[in-house]
Amino acid sequence: MKKVGCGLLVLLCLACGMRAQTEPKPPALTVIRAGTLIDGTSESPRKNQLIFVRDEHIEKVTEGTAAIPAGAKVIDLSQATVLPGLIDSHTHIFLWGEDPKKGGYDANILKAGIALRAARATFAVRRALEQGFTTLRDVETEGAGYGDVEIKEAIAEGTIPGPRLFVSTRAISTTGGYNLEGYAPELDMPKGAQIIDGPVEARKAAREQLDHGADWIKVYMTHRSWVDKQGNLVSQPTLTVEELKAIVDEAHGWGKRVACHAYNGIGLQRALDGGCDSIEHGLEITDAQIAQMVRQGTWYCPTMAVYYKDWAPADTPAGQRDRKRAAVHGSSLEKAVKAGVKIVYGTDMGGIEWTEPEAQDFPYMVEFGMTAMGAIEAATSRAAEMLDMKGEIGVVAPGAYADVIAVTGDPLKDIKELEKVRFVMHDGWVFRNEIDK
Ligand SMILES: [Zn+2]
Repeated sequence: MKKVGCGLLVLLCLACGMRAQTEPKPPALTVIRAGTLIDGTSESPRKNQLIFVRDEHIEKVTEGTAAIPAGAKVIDLSQATVLPGLIDSHTHIFLWGEDPKKGGYDANILKAGIALRAARATFAVRRALEQGFTTLRDVETEGAGYGDVEIKEAIAEGTIPGPRLFVSTRAISTTGGYNLEGYAPELDMPKGAQIIDGPVEARKAAREQLDHGADWIKVYMTHRSWVDKQGNLVSQPTLTVEELKAIVDEAHGWGKRVACHAYNGIGLQRALDGGCDSIEHGLEITDAQIAQMVRQGTWYCPTMAVYYKDWAPADTPAGQRDRKRAAVHGSSLEKAVKAGVKIVYGTDMGGIEWTEPEAQDFPYMVEFGMTAMGAIEAATSRAAEMLDMKGEIGVVAPGAYADVIAVTGDPLKDIKELEKVRFVMHDGWVFRNEIDK
């Protein structure tokens, strides 16, 4: 991103006849004065700290009385609460909300061309960054192929601003296991995920996706869901354990991990038995499954807010399902917190329109049993651990990337403060600063 600035400078300098080399270089050392610091791993916040940022890394964190070298750029956040950049472990930058009034999910694939979808993804990553989310694990492109790998590349080369991305490309499901559906059987409709049947096809799909740049493999272990005659939520299982095992074996061989969309029941059980690294949504998890997750070290990425939106009318089967999904999700999260399951913060943004706040899942995490600090850790150091970036992101500490955000209120008193991020530094580059102008 710093290259964007340089590129603009070069253009400006060409226009005015100056040479780029005569421009003053930005200071290598920036010192952030933090009134309160929540560093992502410590149990309690610290007052009056200095964060020394050199280029794109944090060099050291000291007491506020330490000397600041002459020539350092100082950013005064002494009236603010400073935190590590947030991590959303479940997003879809290529989804644009699924509002039925706008044609729902299908219109995204049937009517939007790839350039329009890339433009929307560009908007999405910028939105995430300006709200303080400096890292996203984006869990599939919903029919936009390997577009996420290229958006990631555009961010890395400085063409567009955006967070650090972990991408999972096309995702994998089975015949009968993904949209588009409900069209005439004679039509060969495109699917939002790569469809496989059998362990051989499963492994081949994983190989293709890894070959083309997937950081994670995303698998759909359940698809349709409904409420049965006894009032229970049921979800249709997709891959068999053998199919999933082939994918997990392949991904692990490449040093990569597997995220499994699983609502409940048979599909969730197969996800655990097949060795998934993270359970996505996990709407309804039994006590035995929670125990298995603790035993296996499986990560849990609940996505609460999205299940409280767009409910169908209460007297319809879809409406009953929508209400049941939200009800069981809350109690599952509560049980998982109590049992000590490893939990990360996820939203399903994209399923939620990108114009909405990305921090809207925090209040649900607190409502269902997490402390405010626990919820912050789920979106910082815990997620970093899941992403194999422990100590590098999700923490304000020496050696970490300088992903630093600030709010003017106290998020430990009111977690909704995280919806009001007003300072964002990403890899040492100040992207937003409405506090020390
Ligand atoms: Zn999702």
